[in-house]
Amino acid sequence: MMKREFLEAMGVEVYQLRSRGSDEMEFEQVNASVEDSPQEAVLEAHIEIDEQKNQLPVADDAKNSFEVDFASLAELANGCTRCQLSRSRTQVVFGSGCETAELMFIGEGPGAQEDQEGLPFVGKAGRLLTSMIAALGFQRDDVYICNVVKCRPPNNRDPHSSEAVSCAPFLRRQIALVQPKVLVALGRVSAQLLLDTEVSLSSLRKQKHKYEDTGIDLVVTYHPAYLLRKPSEKAKSWEDLWYVRQLLEGTSAS
Ligand code: URA
Repeated sequence: MMKREFLEAMGVEVYQLRSRGSDEMEFEQVNASVEDSPQEAVLEAHIEIDEQKNQLPVADDAKNSFEVDFASLAELANGCTRCQLSRSRTQVVFGSGCETAELMFIGEGPGAQEDQEGLPFVGKAGRLLTSMIAALGFQRDDVYICNVVKCRPPNNRDPHSSEAVSCAPFLRRQIALVQPKVLVALGRVSAQLLLDTEVSLSSLRKQKHKYEDTGIDLVVTYHPAYLLRKPSEKAKSWEDLWYVRQLLEGTSAS
């Protein structure tokens, strides 16, 4: 995919120089921006959880991960009451996509629509994420998508770090099962929780991080919801996705 096609898929307006005859340079738009809007489980896990001690149902404490297969992990998540988010959720939003994907996107937490449908990134921001995935040459089903926390934080607030800690054994196991080549943290909250840092998103971009001690590359980019509010930042997001592509292809210099 050429740079321009990539930008078009991202909804970035591309301009080219029309004439050099006059003192003032004239640019014409050569693409239309992608519309921001349109085109837009519960097994009971019979587990006893001691919330006070915050014990893991079947976690391997050394790895702080639930050492089970995907189906059992989803079942555990669906019955999870490890944090207060379980009380206000409609349903758990475990994750979706290819369980052997080379690319994995991680958002912060489900929104209202995700909470209703039980799937990650299905709202307006999700549609932009689908465009971003397409810009990378993939379909949604080719990648794995999930969130740091699996239950909707009320009023779309940021997840608390204690909630992320409670949910970490799920995410850690998802990553261990998928074994992606590259993880993409979507937005500041996801990036900071995944990298256990308070460094700003802008400082975390444009470099290859490693997720914990897994050796898996992690790249940070803007959250699609932020890009919807600030479309002018889509070009920067393109830079990040271009870098992701290079990492996947093994052609990145760093
Ligand atoms: N925002 C997120 O971080 N995750 C979703 O699933 C939806 C919106």
